[in-house]
Amino acid sequence: MSEDPASIDRYGVMGYPISHSRSPVIHRLFALQTGQRLQYELLHVAPEKLEQAVRQFQRTGGKGLNVTVPHKAAVARLCDQLSERAREAGAVNTLAFQDGDVFGDNTDGVGLIRDLETNLGIRLKGARILVLGAGGATLGITGPLLRRLPSELVIANRTLSRAEAIVERFDEALALSACAFDTVPDGEFDLVINATSAGVHGETPPYPATAVAGKTLCYDLSYGLKPTPFSEWAREAGAARSVMGWGMLVEQAAESFHLWRGVRPDTAPVLKQIAISA
Ligand code: NDP
Repeated sequence: MSEDPASIDRYGVMGYPISHSRSPVIHRLFALQTGQRLQYELLHVAPEKLEQAVRQFQRTGGKGLNVTVPHKAAVARLCDQLSERAREAGAVNTLAFQDGDVFGDNTDGVGLIRDLETNLGIRLKGARILVLGAGGATLGITGPLLRRLPSELVIANRTLSRAEAIVERFDEALALSACAFDTVPDGEFDLVINATSAGVHGETPPYPATAVAGKTLCYDLSYGLKPTPFSEWAREAGAARSVMGWGMLVEQAAESFHLWRGVRPDTAPVLKQIAISA
């Protein structure tokens, strides 16, 4: 007997634009692997329709959502409860609907840290780290990176005031500072993370080449079928290694899946599968 589709738990991802998202594939692979039954939809939602779309998804029985560019800060204001890491970031990428309440979490930071430490074997303690960009993704990764006790964490952004505002949120952190792309402190960084969305628009801003040398790992939160503009730039600047954000994407999704279903998927085969099919 065929099953009533209405009885299957519904999840989805809201963004604007959203058609490029690989989240449905990742969550279907997690569901297959763990024997969970669920459906996962792509939801194209303009900023002015965000609240209406979230409420409607909840009202019609949806169980949880991922939320991506440009909604991460706005959706935090719709939540009845926030996890500690979402409150710290002021940005949410995962919603869970529980007993009529909206719970907001942020899994970006843990996703990045797992990819760097577990998948790539990077030691963050004592590392000199430069983050390019000061948007929603940087809000989510700053606290988790600081807790790894880097020797220095510099946030450089096109709009300096946004980088300064993030530093103010974490004002107890002595290792943290803000600057513009052309005033990055001298010397080589161990890790340069691109958290701008410039590459998505095919742009390569004047990233600071002096930050990169023979031992630098360059990590682009963005990912693509071909090397991203930042990956190309990093190679030309002489980075030891240049990595795109597929691993973070899968790891942050696994943390959302765990929150929703109480089961932690094995990320390694899924990462391999999407990287091959990408
Ligand atoms: P936001 O829109 O919140 O922020 C965008 C940032 O990019 C801002 O700092 C903005 O600078 C900067 N920027 C945009 N265009 C340019 C440009 N032409 N030159 C210089 N700076 C530019 O985006 P998010 O922070 O949410 O996301 C950033 C990127 O990270 C996206 O590409 C997203 O897809 C990716 N991401 C990947 C994840 C993964 O799992 N791999 C998870 C989360 C995000 P300004 O402040 O001056 O406007």
